[in-house]
Amino acid sequence: MCLPLLRNGHLQAILYLENNLSETLFTHDRLPYLEAIGSQLLISIDNARLHEGLENLVERRTHELEEANRHLRQQTLLDGLTGIGNRRRFDETVAVEWLRAQRNQSPLSICLIDVDFFKRYNDFYGHIAGDDCLKQVAQTLHMSIKRSADSVNRYGGEEFVILLPETTSVAAKAIAERCRRAVEALALPHAQSEASSVVSISVGIACANSYYELTSAEALVHCADAALYRAKMEGRNRVICYVPPQ
Ligand code: GH3
Ligand code: MG
Ligand code: MG
Repeated sequence: MCLPLLRNGHLQAILYLENNLSETLFTHDRLPYLEAIGSQLLISIDNARLHEGLENLVERRTHELEEANRHLRQQTLLDGLTGIGNRRRFDETVAVEWLRAQRNQSPLSICLIDVDFFKRYNDFYGHIAGDDCLKQVAQTLHMSIKRSADSVNRYGGEEFVILLPETTSVAAKAIAERCRRAVEALALPHAQSEASSVVSISVGIACANSYYELTSAEALVHCADAALYRAKMEGRNRVICYVPPQ
């Protein structure tokens, strides 16, 4: 016996019943029951479809939301001006790399970089030129690092920081020197600098290793800052490594 299940005259489903044991089962007076069952079935089918549709929708929306969150989080870790990582990203990364270095007993180096006489650059060439200069320096530093674990972030203002996991101070010094030369090679004129005729950087390096153990990532930054201060004092446009007290 077949019973079409209709809604507004449109076929939604077909109720098909079969019985091979008795020939008198499907009679006319059974029809009202079957029609009642049929309309119940239609409601169940509608509910099931709606539920499935809703589940798909929720799944899709959840996925979109996760994507948006990931994107948003990435944005909060990027510097708006230069497009490289920001201070927050450095803080997060250095905390992770610090623990990894401790666990693996491997060296961890950082380079603190500061643009020389940048206040004078701004005053002389204007703030927009200053911004452009920072963008170019950031890109140059970014291009000067090779390994995927290495990262360049804007530390603040005209200061940048390079994090170099599993890198000794000797290797870090070579990388910092490469960065310094690359910025010099940009050949951005700096008429007001006492260090060079072009925009230059000073770099302070510190390395935590098994010979010289530091207590925290903050202490590592502090040592790099001390080395940067010396680089400034000794004439700028140079790389200085932190020397631990004997
Ligand atoms: P030093 O060689 O000792 O580092 O001298 P300096 O002039 O570079 O150092 P100082 O700290 O006196 O000046 C830093 C300047 O960097 C001052 C500030 O206006 C400028 N600066 C910081 N952030 C930005 C920025 O986002 N855009 C521009 N255009 N300038 C910035
Ligand atoms: Mg500075
Ligand atoms: Mg400076």
